Amino acid sequence: MRSPIPDYLDGALQSVAADESGAPADYIPELAGADPDRLAVAVCTIDGARYTAGDVGVEFSIQSISKPFVYALALADRGFEAVLEKVWVEPSGDAFNELSLDPETSRPLNPMINAGAITTNSLAGAPEMDAAARHERIVDGLSAFAGRRLSVDDAVFESEMNTAYRNRALANLLRANGIIDEDPIVAVAAYTRQCSLSVTTEDLAVMAATLANGGVHPVSGAPVVSRAVARQVLSVMATCGMYDGAGDWMTRVGVPAKSGVSGGLIGALPGQVGISTFSPRLDRHGNSVRGLDLFERFTADMGMHLMEVPPATTTVIRSDRVHHAPAGDVRVVSLQGALQFSGAEQVLRYFVDKTIEEHRIALALVRVQSVNDVARRMLLEVIRRLSLEGHEVFLIDPDQVIPDPDPGTGGSVVVLHSLQDLLPLWRRRAAE
Ligand code: GLU
Repeated sequence: MRSPIPDYLDGALQSVAADESGAPADYIPELAGADPDRLAVAVCTIDGARYTAGDVGVEFSIQSISKPFVYALALADRGFEAVLEKVWVEPSGDAFNELSLDPETSRPLNPMINAGAITTNSLAGAPEMDAAARHERIVDGLSAFAGRRLSVDDAVFESEMNTAYRNRALANLLRANGIIDEDPIVAVAAYTRQCSLSVTTEDLAVMAATLANGGVHPVSGAPVVSRAVARQVLSVMATCGMYDGAGDWMTRVGVPAKSGVSGGLIGALPGQVGISTFSPRLDRHGNSVRGLDLFERFTADMGMHLMEVPPATTTVIRSDRVHHAPAGDVRVVSLQGALQFSGAEQVLRYFVDKTIEEHRIALALVRVQSVNDVARRMLLEVIRRLSLEGHEVFLIDPDQVIPDPDPGTGGSVVVLHSLQDLLPLWRRRAAE
């Protein structure tokens, strides 16, 4: 069978192709010369499947889409505290090149505006690194997100450096306020070099999917940044990723995103996909016109809005049966689904509301795909309390969705691979 997804993506591109509104960025001469008709889309799922349509082979400079990834590297290399001390996480509501500094601390308001991004660039890598070593760290880091070696487009770099008056002004103010320690000219060159890395639309989808996948590369499975870093970056993208259009974007499209002045746009839907589009004509906020339309369409067609999530669990208790065995009855409560707080709460409530006569209780996790941290702790507490009430508790967990379960003080549990394993256990016990 041929997948219908590329056809869908082709259709989506066709539906926006006629829109010629907006204009490529002209403050960077090399970008002004970009072919405005280029149009591409790529989707990468968190298990590495890729779908593309349009001009996906075309390379363009990553520009501001580098910002979330370099922010991730800074967080990974220096830790949250050191980075937050220098760059805050509040949406500025201003244009990308506005000098939005916190009035009290002088920190840039967030890492997605230029002032914040120039600062995060200076925080990537180890503190003792010079600009060249830091650049290597950034190229290595962004290449790890993409899963292939990226390189700088020197023409774009030179072109932007020739006109980077505003970014120089920002860097000078950052230096004057003690936010960066480095020579402002060096800082702007380093930041501009990061923006000049060449990528394809497909690279961007894979990079976004790495964030959506908790920092793990979707194709190679290699860890790129920690889950905590990925969460932080996605949160900042959700609140600050679309410049002064961030609120409008979040309500209409509802996906953590980042745009760049070369016409790229990425969206990362946590736990599902990374998506990217490329179309160089921009609106007055500096966001790609057709990219915005495409994303709005994807949200509507694929139900991607972050605030519109199906219930994590419907019924967690799949069945509750008493199994009769010569050595005594055992009550088997089978659970199902991907357990998070609300699912584990159902289990907890089930045992609170029910008086269980049987001495032996087995919790079967055969149909449970995953148990997050809070759900694990809640289930272990259920086990502990049942043990304290005098029950003998078994956990049937063939896939070890709860590895090394420890119900804590006063609790005990016997872990089994399957319900059948209870029988030999009975026999052994009877023989003892
Ligand atoms: N290098 C560009 C600048 O600093 C990036 C801006 C963007 O992509 O929005 O002006």
